[in-house]
Amino acid sequence: MQLRFATVLSAEEYVRRKAWKEAKLDNCPIHPEGGCGFCKNGTYRRKTPEGTKIARWYCSLGHQTFSLLPDCLSARLPGTLQEVESVMEEVERSPSQEDAVERIRLDILLPGALRWARRRILPIRSALTMLIRLMPFLFSSCEPTLSSFRCALCVSYVLPELRQHGGSFLQILPPPLGFGSRPGSKKMKKNRFQHKTGTDPPL
Ligand SMILES: [Zn+2]
Repeated sequence: MQLRFATVLSAEEYVRRKAWKEAKLDNCPIHPEGGCGFCKNGTYRRKTPEGTKIARWYCSLGHQTFSLLPDCLSARLPGTLQEVESVMEEVERSPSQEDAVERIRLDILLPGALRWARRRILPIRSALTMLIRLMPFLFSSCEPTLSSFRCALCVSYVLPELRQHGGSFLQILPPPLGFGSRPGSKKMKKNRFQHKTGTDPPL
């Protein structure tokens, strides 16, 4: 299970400071009362940005690992949320997705470039649509676009900021923003708006 490591560090700073060493998870998220053999379980590496490691814990009773993903990094995609945001921004500014990806991905053919871009754009749009409904007090006047959310939040980069604002909903929001299921998956349809109040992260 992925959990949020709240940090304002950029991906470069995270790697340079080896900030995974500062990540803390005092209690098992499934058994806060303890007694389940919950312990630190080292780190795992991510390919990009180079040198990235993610802190990990393990609950032996629940046979479950927990990793603390910093706010700067994408969930279940390589790289950073800022990189995802740049792709989406280019698409929002362009007359068509084809036009945008032809400028972003010069290294691969158009069909592959479109698939690559849509793996980023579609789940982010889905997450923004969910946030408008889940957090109407902040986003009721927003469209599911980055430019609209940027205006509402008055920030340069929206996605890392949404890890903070949407912190209670990360387990149901799709990756790369959240830690839930991908849009269209069975699990996603079932859980979409079934957020329960309670601990953060949800148990
Ligand atoms: Zn446990």
